[in-house]
Amino acid sequence: MEKKNRGVLAVVSGFSGAGKGTIMKELLAQYPDQYALSVSATTREPRPGETDGQEYFFVSDERFREMIAQEELLEYAGYVNHYYGTPKAYVMEQLDAGKDVILEIEIQGALKIRKKFPDTLLLFISAPDAKTLQERLSGRGTEDEGTVAKRLSRACEESEGIEAYDYFVVNDELGKCVAQVHGIIQNEHARVARNLEKIAQIRAELKAFERR
Ligand code: 5GP
Repeated sequence: MEKKNRGVLAVVSGFSGAGKGTIMKELLAQYPDQYALSVSATTREPRPGETDGQEYFFVSDERFREMIAQEELLEYAGYVNHYYGTPKAYVMEQLDAGKDVILEIEIQGALKIRKKFPDTLLLFISAPDAKTLQERLSGRGTEDEGTVAKRLSRACEESEGIEAYDYFVVNDELGKCVAQVHGIIQNEHARVARNLEKIAQIRAELKAFERR
């Protein structure tokens, strides 16, 4: 049987309200054996409908500081008054098991991960235009006006960093966007640098033919 390669580490970032969460849910529903979604720790309050351990591990400031001190996080960053971080153990286990691991994190975290793991794939997801973004954020009704304004201003800052990413995907139609993200991540498996063992093997096999 073919040996299972190490999984792809993919970071998905995007403006707040671009629909990343929905895309990730759909991707996992369609390909449950292929992907593992990292669940971050955050100090923000759960939104209605969010469950501890599912969307996030909702932790106190104190517990978050402890996670930093114990080196339990692969990266962490501040975002609109709160901290968010990626627990290390789960990501490493799932990559070793051959799963493609997705981190849905913001840009500072994305850059830290790329520095630690240079072969990380970085995808940026955008709404088709700024007006759609604002409508989605306000229409969500889960944040007050001040927070929506802060998130839009953060989106403006983040737009300056998109060139650091490998792919820019516009979420105008969910199904199309999910298929595109899946295709991008799966193509990574065919990269020459990820297949050096297999390449060496077929080369050795061919040489063996020649010696016959
Ligand atoms: P939200 O509060 O809307 O769930 O998330 C706010 C922002 O924090 C989003 O851009 C999200 O991608 C980012 N985020 C979520 N988890 C993490 C994490 O573990 N690390 C970093 N750096 N950003 C995160």
